[in-house]
Amino acid sequence: MSRLELNGRKVEFHPGETLLQLASRHGYAVPTICYHEATGTRGLCRVCAVEVAGQARPVPACATLAQEGMEVRTESDELHTLRRTIYEWTMLATDTSEAPGIEREAALLSTDPARWGRAPQDRLRRVPIRDNPFFLRDYAKCVQCRRCVDACGDGIQGVWALSLAGRSLQSCITTPLELSLPESPCVFCGNCVQVCPTNALKPLAEAALQGGPA
Ligand code: SF4
Ligand code: SF4
Repeated sequence: MSRLELNGRKVEFHPGETLLQLASRHGYAVPTICYHEATGTRGLCRVCAVEVAGQARPVPACATLAQEGMEVRTESDELHTLRRTIYEWTMLATDTSEAPGIEREAALLSTDPARWGRAPQDRLRRVPIRDNPFFLRDYAKCVQCRRCVDACGDGIQGVWALSLAGRSLQSCITTPLELSLPESPCVFCGNCVQVCPTNALKPLAEAALQGGPA
């Protein structure tokens, strides 16, 4: 077994173990948004950033393998500020009202999205898409984590009916040629709905119970 230092403790790690997996195994809660064990990792959201001695910047714990002799810190004032800022920007631009994981972490970090001023409306004005009999796509609630894209593609299903298009606040999940889902390669497996952390993808039955479009 190889060893490294995690928050001041000498710990052993397995070959191929990420810093996120290692921290979790040793009881350190590192927040994540984009990471899901079924879809792997792309290190997109950056809220799992941790400090590694000798590295100029924090590194994404989900996308960094444990290495012999590393000195890793999962908590510091700088990491707290970084995570708080990411959550605030996310909550300012996106409807996170049905994302309990994000709301919970944001509360722990005492976030105050309003301190950044007026909310950009690009995402918040998106109208829910109902183009199939199974689930709604409400991209005002989408945090661009790509979990659905990867679940549909090489993560689970292998049909690539979804992709991420555009940049920054204009970025959005879409289909090939912006076709409706029934016209796309979608096989309605539901995997994308299962991994969505914000309820942007929601079964129509649940939407109906909430009084939304059904
Ligand atoms: S339901 Fe359709 S879009 Fe969603 S993962 Fe399955 S095939 Fe892809
Ligand atoms: S629809 Fe859900 S799973 Fe897909 S990118 Fe948006 S938040 Fe992530």
